[in-house]
Amino acid sequence: MYADCHIHTEFSGDSDTPMKVQLDKAVSLGMEQICITDHNDHDVVSDIDFNLDFEGYFKEMAQLQAEYSPKITVLAGVEQGLQEHLGDYLEDISRKYPFDFIIGSVHFIDGLDPYYPEYFEKFGKDAYRRYFEQTLFCVKGINSFDSLGHLDYIVRYGADKDLSYSYREYADYIDEILKTLIAKGKALECNTAPYARGGNEPNPCKDMLKRYRELGGELITIGSDAHSEDNIGKGFEEAGALLKSCGFEYYAVYKERRPLMMKL
Ligand SMILES: [Zn+2]
Ligand SMILES: [Zn+2]
Repeated sequence: MYADCHIHTEFSGDSDTPMKVQLDKAVSLGMEQICITDHNDHDVVSDIDFNLDFEGYFKEMAQLQAEYSPKITVLAGVEQGLQEHLGDYLEDISRKYPFDFIIGSVHFIDGLDPYYPEYFEKFGKDAYRRYFEQTLFCVKGINSFDSLGHLDYIVRYGADKDLSYSYREYADYIDEILKTLIAKGKALECNTAPYARGGNEPNPCKDMLKRYRELGGELITIGSDAHSEDNIGKGFEEAGALLKSCGFEYYAVYKERRPLMMKL
C-alpha cells in the first residue's frame, strides 16, 4: 500500500475526523507511512474557517508521532492555499514550522472557490482557463511548496465534469505549469479523490501526468485527499497502474522537505 500523502483531519475546517481515526485506518490498511496535510487557506473569505491552528496542530502531531511510531511513520504536512500575493506569507510559515511536506493547491481565484457555482457564474466560458492561468502565476511566483496539489481541481466542479474537457484545449498553460514545476524541482501530485466518487482518472488526468513525464518530470506524490477514514488509500491501485503506464517507476514521499523515492 502506497503512503498516503494527502489527508485531512479535524484540524481542517471541512473535516471533523480526528487524527487518530485517520491513523488507525491507515494502519489497518497496512500503510507504513502517512502524511497529514490539513488545510491552511490564508486571506480568503469563506463560510468555513480554513486557517490552520499551527501550534495545536504540531502539538497533537508530536504526540501521535510518538504514540504511533511502532506502527506507522506519521509525517507532518500542510495543504497551503496558493494565491499570487501570498509568496512572503507562505515563505514565513514554511520557515517557522518543521514541516515534512507542503502541498501547494489553488483553491481560490479572485476570492471565489470553484467548489461553488458562483465561480462559474462569474467566469463563464473562461472558468477553466482562468484557473490554469492563476495556477501558472502561483507556480512561477511562489517557491515554498513541494508538490502541486490536484492540478485540474476545477474539473471536479465544472458543469459537465470532465466530459467536455480536454488537456489539449489548455495545453499552453498546462505545459508551462509542468515545465515550471520541473525547472524548480517541484513534484506533481496524483490526487486519487475522483476514484472515491466513481471517476476513473485522478486529478490531474492521465494526459497531464503523461505530459509531465514526457517533459522530464519524475517527482510524483500520491494522496487520497481523504476528509474521513473511508477514503484513505482509495483508488491507489488504479493510480499506481496508471502512473506506471505513463512511464513512472517511483513516487516520492517527503521527509523534512526532501523527496524519498519509493518504488511504484
Ligand atoms: Zn485541495
Ligand atoms: Zn486536500
